[in-house]
Amino acid sequence: MMALTKEVDMAKVAKLSEKVDLGQLLSLVSSMDERTLQQLLKLAAPKAPKALPVVDGDFFDIGALLTPKQREVQLKVRRFMEDEVEPIINAYWQRDEFPRQLIGKLKDLDIIGELFGEDGRRREGAAVLEGIIGMEMARVDVSTTTFFGVHSGLAMWSIYLGGSEAQRREWLPRLRDFEVIGAFGLTEPDVGSAVSQGMTTTCRREGDDWVLNGQKYWIGNATFSDFTIIWAKDEADGQVKGFIVRQETPGFSVTKIEGKIALRAVENGHVTLSNCRVREADRLQNAHSFRTTADVLRMTRAGVAWQGVGCGMGAYEKSLAYAQKRTQFGRPIASFQLVQNLLVQMLGNVTAMQTMCLRLSQLQDAGTMRDEQASLAKVFTAKRCRETVALARELHGGKGILLENHVARYFADTEAIYSYEGTNEINSLVVGRAITGYSAFV
Ligand SMILES: Cc1cc2nc3c(=O)[nH]c(=O)nc-3n(C[C@H](O)[C@H](O)[C@H](O)COP(=O)(O)OP(=O)(O)OC[C@H]3O[C@@H](n4cnc5c(N)ncnc54)[C@H](O)[C@@H]3O)c2cc1C
Repeated sequence: MMALTKEVDMAKVAKLSEKVDLGQLLSLVSSMDERTLQQLLKLAAPKAPKALPVVDGDFFDIGALLTPKQREVQLKVRRFMEDEVEPIINAYWQRDEFPRQLIGKLKDLDIIGELFGEDGRRREGAAVLEGIIGMEMARVDVSTTTFFGVHSGLAMWSIYLGGSEAQRREWLPRLRDFEVIGAFGLTEPDVGSAVSQGMTTTCRREGDDWVLNGQKYWIGNATFSDFTIIWAKDEADGQVKGFIVRQETPGFSVTKIEGKIALRAVENGHVTLSNCRVREADRLQNAHSFRTTADVLRMTRAGVAWQGVGCGMGAYEKSLAYAQKRTQFGRPIASFQLVQNLLVQMLGNVTAMQTMCLRLSQLQDAGTMRDEQASLAKVFTAKRCRETVALARELHGGKGILLENHVARYFADTEAIYSYEGTNEINSLVVGRAITGYSAFV
């Protein structure tokens, strides 16, 4: 550029651009040597658009820590979510309905088979892979992740930990192949956080049957599942027992909960059990107290922490892409300092969540994960995700409240992540008790 300005009288060129004198222009051009002429033509040529960095929410490259097989599954799930779920999910979210056609497609994806082997046993490294699958799903849609988490997490873990060998053999392969869909009924209309102490649903042994009475609330998938795991207190010994209650059982009924502002594409049910008779063979044979229920929740709580990671990651990526293309004051909003600050806060949150959860799942795979570790991850990710989706909504301006840009859905769905699988307060109390040695539960 310097060399060029020396050889060409730029003042003359500038003057020409004000009022073109063709003769003068031709004489100026004919006085140039070939090199100068080429440089001038290069300057005048339209500029190629600036190549921008790729939008990628995996800033610390946690993908590189996965085995080739885990990475392959991650990318397979990513493609599925982007191609099959993203194009349709806003319409279903608006309609308050789960897109049931996804079930057959999830079966074809065969991802539960990567977690549970043919023999029904958990595969090595399943917790990390399960977390990555949850992250990839929530990166596009949290409702789909929740459907999957209730089915492959809460329902399958209940049978895995509480079922006999025969029950595992009967149910796990069919659940793995989505031949049957599972749900999990623990929470009640009047008892949520305190359900371990205040459960009101009862079970009573009568001959070869059990008779169940009570209500369950918020039960994901229950409107269309083939069975729901029902946790009920034994009238005889006061202990909590688990039952596989088939949908068609007389005395079992479900109504859909309407009017949610989060996870609208998950169908949550209000279950009523009125003298509902279940065979002894369908009682979870190795679940003798609430301890088994708590063991299930410990395993799935990590999965919910990963939902926060994915939702935050999706919100960050959507925001960066939007900031690169949205122009105000003649410049992309990504070039404004304050907007960059929002993006950096989001990315910091996402990266902290990813690295924390990856370590949590490694501990889970090693069989050493403690309750308070899962609880800390849930508390941390729910909070950071909530902050991240709020920043994403802010960055999108008014369009941040429109479903079409997806961040409004992330923003709303995070409210459910914040409250289920143990609220923020309850998980904080679990961690607080572990680190101080004092229980602050009342
Ligand atoms: C979208 C969605 C899906 C769900 N899916 C299922 C499902 O499939 N199966 C299922 O069984 N359940 C499900 N749940 C229920 C969920 O687990 C409960 O909502 C959750 O455990 C909290 O219970 P609660 O809503 O009754 O709140 P409450 O227990 O009534 O809590 C209300 C408030 O009081 C606070 N609080 C309560 N006790 C204490 C305390 N000791 N100290 C300090 N603060 C306290 C809570 O933190 C909260 O802020 C789902 C919930 C939602 C929202």
